[in-house]
Amino acid sequence: MTLDELRAYFQGDLALGEREIALFDRYLDLLEEWNGRMNLTAVRDRGEMVEKHLLDSLLAMRALKGARPGSAIDIGTGPGFPGMVLAILMKDVRWTLLDATRKKCEFLSAVKDALALANVEVMNARAETLPKERWDLATARAFSSLPMLLELGAPLLAVGGQLLAMKGPKGEEELITSGRAMKELGMEHVSKYRESLPGGDGERLNILFRKTARTPRKYPREFRLIKAKPL
Ligand code: SAH
Repeated sequence: MTLDELRAYFQGDLALGEREIALFDRYLDLLEEWNGRMNLTAVRDRGEMVEKHLLDSLLAMRALKGARPGSAIDIGTGPGFPGMVLAILMKDVRWTLLDATRKKCEFLSAVKDALALANVEVMNARAETLPKERWDLATARAFSSLPMLLELGAPLLAVGGQLLAMKGPKGEEELITSGRAMKELGMEHVSKYRESLPGGDGERLNILFRKTARTPRKYPREFRLIKAKPL
C-alpha cells in the first residue's frame, strides 16, 4: 500500500492531510535507512511498512475517538508504533515514547528531530521504574500479555485515564484471563474494536480500559515477579 492509498483508506474517518503524509514519508525514509544498520523491524518492504505499521497504528484512533488526553505514553514503543504515528496525528497531546532499549530510543530521537515534533519526548527506561499516576492515556502494541501490560500500565495512569492494548487474534482470550488483574489494579474494561488489516494481513483486537481507582502501592512488582506470577 502506498501513502496515497493509506490516505484513501481512512477517508471520511481520519483527516490525513499533506502534513501528516509528508511526515509519514520522512519517518519511513528514516526507518528504512536505520533498519539497514540495526534491526528495528523485520518488515523491509515499504508498502508493507505502510500497512503493518502505519495503518495498524492509525486503527487505534477508532478506539480513541472522543478521548481528549493531555498526555499519553506508548509503552515499549520499539521503532515508534503506535506512539510516533499517533503523536504525528495528535499534535496537542504530549507524547512520551518509552522503550527499554537504547538503540531504539536513538532512532526515535532522530525521528523526533528530523520531523520537528515538539510534542514528543523519548524516554529510555523500563515501565516499572517510571513515576506514577502521571499520564491520561497509555498505549501498547505487541508488548506483553494483557495481565502484565495492565500491571505495568495502570500505575502510570491518573485515575480516569485510559489504556489501549493493541492485540492480535488472541486478545479475546487474554481479556477473559485478565479479570483478576483488572480488579486488583483498579481498571475496568470499556470497549473493544475488532479490526482486520487489508489483504488478509491479520486480525487485530484493540481493547480499551479505564482506570477507576488508584493502583495499590505494591504495583508494579519487580519485573521478574510480574513475569513469573502474572496477576
Ligand atoms: N510497540 C512496538 C514494539 C514492540 S516490541 C511495535 O508494535 O512494533 C516490544 C518493545 O518493548 C521492545 O522494543 C522492548 O525493548 C520494549 N520493552 C520490553 N519490556 C519493557 C519494559 N519493561 N519497559 C519498557 N520497554 C520495554
